[in-house]
Amino acid sequence: MRQSQLFGKTLREAPRDEISLNAKLLTRGGFIYKNSAGVYSFLPLGWRVIRKIADIIREEMNAIGGQEMFMAALHDKRYLTATGRWNVDVVFKVLAGGEKEPSFNISWTHEEIIAEIAAKYISSYKDLPLAAYQIQTKFRHEPRAKSGLLRGREFLMKDLYSFHSSEKDLMDYYEKVAVAYHKIFKRCGLKSIYTLAAGGEFTANYTHEFQVIADVGEDVIYVCEGCAYAENKEISKLKAGGQCPQCRGRVEEKKSIEVGNIFPLGTKYSEAFDLLFANEKGEKKHVVMGSYGIGLGRTLGTIVETSHDEKGIMWPETVAPFRVHLLEIKSTSSVVKRVAQKLYKTLLAREVEVLYDDRDEKTAGEKFADADLIGLPLRAVISEKTIAQKGIEVKKRSEREAKIISAKELLKLASC
Ligand code: ATP
Ligand code: MG
Repeated sequence: MRQSQLFGKTLREAPRDEISLNAKLLTRGGFIYKNSAGVYSFLPLGWRVIRKIADIIREEMNAIGGQEMFMAALHDKRYLTATGRWNVDVVFKVLAGGEKEPSFNISWTHEEIIAEIAAKYISSYKDLPLAAYQIQTKFRHEPRAKSGLLRGREFLMKDLYSFHSSEKDLMDYYEKVAVAYHKIFKRCGLKSIYTLAAGGEFTANYTHEFQVIADVGEDVIYVCEGCAYAENKEISKLKAGGQCPQCRGRVEEKKSIEVGNIFPLGTKYSEAFDLLFANEKGEKKHVVMGSYGIGLGRTLGTIVETSHDEKGIMWPETVAPFRVHLLEIKSTSSVVKRVAQKLYKTLLAREVEVLYDDRDEKTAGEKFADADLIGLPLRAVISEKTIAQKGIEVKKRSEREAKIISAKELLKLASC
């Protein structure tokens, strides 16, 4: 992609109404645009990151038998009234033309929707187990939407739902999902801590959250220094400095961001929607359900919060919008442009994802500052100086020192 044509430009200053670091850096870098508090649009750079996160999630969900689908976002009132959730605070209700009372809501979660659909297609133990997921927009009327992508009123969520013939089968699958979640977050460059938590509006059971330690986090967890056993403060009887119930190690109190949450739902939703199956003996039983969520925008925001320096973002290679930032430094000689263009074409031919800063009006200093702000893993500079040295100046975003290497070496570095 030529930067001169990119939809979205870098900004020198962060917008005054943004207080969170992720929103400041992502707005300045041209990744996102704020439409209103907690409501963001993704510009091409930001959308590339979201798509990479989505691809990682898809791979791991497919690997544990999840089937991707896409459910309706406009929900008839009868769904939430069936489970007593119509009056949950965060639900956005929709007033259609001429109505005095809302008769629909927009999706805040999909347990009711999928339970009803599943009731139509599951009838026997032979249909079980089953797991399906989607990546879709959720809407929640969050009172405090000041944390950028960490807390949106509109946000993308991957939600997986599973259906089982027994509690035991659910819990076996639940553990598989937990392993898949750790893999997803690890691949996104995040260290997630498996944390015992409450079920909120979803279930009376305990649930597990995936927490990433960060000072901006709104959650507080007690986590063991030794074995990383953790409990959310909301439900915990542990104390900072106390003993871990698992390994007797020391428990610490940490602020953290909840990037994922998994819920052993039991039969609450299958009871509400007559989701039944006939067992081997022909007896009708309620299907046992689980649900499992990951916020894509929150994951992206968490990556920025935990991977940046004073100059800008430092994307992990797996989710970076492009792998290489190729900077062409302004010169009176046309050779620089020619060499840079040739390298750009070679990189494209090798299918290396490259952002080519071909902007003529920008100074070297501005280009370097933008490269640090946008934060691609590898910066490659072509200038009169590098041409005189018969090479390309290359620097990893995570390193301080640049070095001169050959085009061949760059291709090797960029393609692996
Ligand atoms: P929180 O406690 O932070 O409000 P939640 O526990 O209500 O979140 P869940 O219903 O568990 O959220 O949602 C599953 C996942 O969706 C969360 O783990 C998080 O990654 C993401 N998520 C939830 N609410 C938001 C939000 N307002 N903005 C962005 N992502 C969110
Ligand atoms: Mg949660």
